[in-house]
Amino acid sequence: MALNSAIQEFIHQQIELYGDELVFSPQSSTKDNPQDDGVKPSWESCEELISFQEKINHCVRCALGKSRTNFVFGSGNPHAEVMLIGDAPDTMEDEQGFPFVGPAGQLLDKILQAIHLDRTRVYLCNVVKCHPSQNRSPLLSELETCRPFLNKQIALVNPNVILCMGEQAANSVLHSNDPIQRLRGRLHQSGQYKIIVTYHPAFLLQHPQYKRDTWFDVQLLAKQLKTNG
Ligand code: SF4
Repeated sequence: MALNSAIQEFIHQQIELYGDELVFSPQSSTKDNPQDDGVKPSWESCEELISFQEKINHCVRCALGKSRTNFVFGSGNPHAEVMLIGDAPDTMEDEQGFPFVGPAGQLLDKILQAIHLDRTRVYLCNVVKCHPSQNRSPLLSELETCRPFLNKQIALVNPNVILCMGEQAANSVLHSNDPIQRLRGRLHQSGQYKIIVTYHPAFLLQHPQYKRDTWFDVQLLAKQLKTNG
């Protein structure tokens, strides 16, 4: 009986994530992008972050699903004007299940205060939702596999400005492959979104000499917010 319940729950989760045709297709094990099959997974029609999170938080679509302790979805104001996207969750984020925690989170709070923002006025998430073991960088294939979730999250928050904090975040959002030094310090436009790139606060803790550049970047963000009124 317990086994039956576990199987039923597993099938239910797979249908939520991938759509029923993919789950029951004989070729399903070789395909991990539901959009390739024209099958629309149920999370795509979510209209709220909370229901979206509930539908995807058991995801094991890439290998990172097996190395996480907690799914790190996101936090903050679901209708924020500013969305902050960080690199893959680190160990503390994995333990707590929230983005930008610990000393890096405290530094982020100070950065936000400097431009008169706080966590109630921004939305925070990471470029992938699961922690890579031994703090390795996510593979390109893992970033791409998780990308539809990030796209959906951005669409639901619908911010005016996205601040990418870290090179993984910047390259994934901008579909580039450049060092962060080439991407930061200016305004990018991707579709309807203005995008600014800066260093991740965890990087700044180790390399405080880049705080001056970060200050310049967040001033650019503040200027955009003023421009938007
Ligand atoms: S990183 Fe993204 S795609 Fe990979 S298992 Fe986690 S939620 Fe799924």
